[in-house]
Amino acid sequence: MTTDLVAALDIGGTKIAGALVDDSGAVRERFQVPTPTREPGEAVLAAVEEVFAALVATPGWAAVRGVGIGSAGPVDAAAGAVSPVNIPGWRGFPLVAAVRRTLGAGLPVTLVGDGAAIAAGEHWCGAARGVDNALCMVVSTGVGGGLVLDGRLRTGPSGNAGHIGHLCVELDGEKCPCGGRGCVEGIASGTAIARWAGEHGLRAPDGGPPTAAHVAAAAREGDAVATVVLK
Ligand SMILES: [Zn+2]
Repeated sequence: MTTDLVAALDIGGTKIAGALVDDSGAVRERFQVPTPTREPGEAVLAAVEEVFAALVATPGWAAVRGVGIGSAGPVDAAAGAVSPVNIPGWRGFPLVAAVRRTLGAGLPVTLVGDGAAIAAGEHWCGAARGVDNALCMVVSTGVGGGLVLDGRLRTGPSGNAGHIGHLCVELDGEKCPCGGRGCVEGIASGTAIARWAGEHGLRAPDGGPPTAAHVAAAAREGDAVATVVLK
């Protein structure tokens, strides 16, 4: 049986992942490559193109009717541009236009912040199913979040509503690459937790300092996802 599919793209500070997803939320195909975070923006786009090339080569691609992108933030959903804090090569990068160029004309392309994407996913198929109000968080290289209010995903005009990672929680805390100080992400991301753990004596299995990967390995799918239901 054939069904319409959506191509999903996840842009993160650790990996760039793509999938074909059916109308029940099931993942039919999945590919990922490491994010070349220390390289220029063109190299990051090349990684995106590599993921799409793998998806396009699958038999399911013919059933794809649209593309959905969730990117580490902040994003400018109206402009179709992204500036992921942990991917310095992309600042105001026109990702939607680049994806349209990669895939050719015809498919609608939608961009939201990864926190909004995960909130939509959790509300549809996951921990927030059946709940009208939820703050869904992704804790990985960074910290993102998205809001479901009154039963609907609320992304705000720029697509960043609920992006909790760069709220200041420590007024005189450490400087953050976003320009702020004492951000949630600087304290609670996988990277920050690993750094804190290393400073307090934790060692990786090989005796070296622990990395975000060691923290992530403790969670089932590589990313620790927490959903807080607001009553
Ligand atoms: Zn910040």
